[in-house]
Amino acid sequence: MARILIVEDEDRIAAFVAKGLRAEGHVTTVCADGRLGLEAALADEHDLMILDIGLPGLSGFQVLEQLRDQGSRMPVIVLTARGSVTDTVTALEGGADDYMAKPFRFAELVARVRVRLRQHAVESVSDAADALQVGGVHLDLRTRRATVGGRQVELSAREFTLAETFMTNAGQVLSREQLLDRVWGLDFDPGSNVVDVYVGYLRRKFGAAAITTVRGMGYRFNV
Ligand code: CA
Repeated sequence: MARILIVEDEDRIAAFVAKGLRAEGHVTTVCADGRLGLEAALADEHDLMILDIGLPGLSGFQVLEQLRDQGSRMPVIVLTARGSVTDTVTALEGGADDYMAKPFRFAELVARVRVRLRQHAVESVSDAADALQVGGVHLDLRTRRATVGGRQVELSAREFTLAETFMTNAGQVLSREQLLDRVWGLDFDPGSNVVDVYVGYLRRKFGAAAITTVRGMGYRFNV
């Protein structure tokens, strides 16, 4: 189930699309005016927008432009007039995710809605994985930088990977073997105390309380 905003001033098309999407289990909102459509889109209560180009108030292009200017990454499928290559190109360059030329078959619209929703969900998850935050410790996975309480701390590549492994599994006990396997791979001397040494390094940088030794089991990064 997704919440779908339909911005279309032709009642017949809006009703047809809304009815069909509701039959697919979605919740729909219809706006017949570009300005109201933009307002509704910016309210961040919808998962996807179906946007007509020729609209009163603001054109579909203007709605799209202002939506993207405001930083919204909501998936947008634009409805264009058949054969209007210029409209299609302008829409895609303006940040539309997809387009449908009118008249279109409903099954095709449903398929495109499904693809866009799925893709957006995947992108949202990978965005969320650009950073990890547990307690006061923040890891930026893109720049490989760490801060503790907003203060930057220097981590070696190995320390960073160890911190990332701990924080991805915060609250869980990880054994020395699991940590060796995930952080050092084959690149270690079995029987070495490298994990204990590096946990010591992280404790010095993150605070001793960040990582607890669980006797006989391993270590836990505290939430
Ligand atoms: Ca129209």
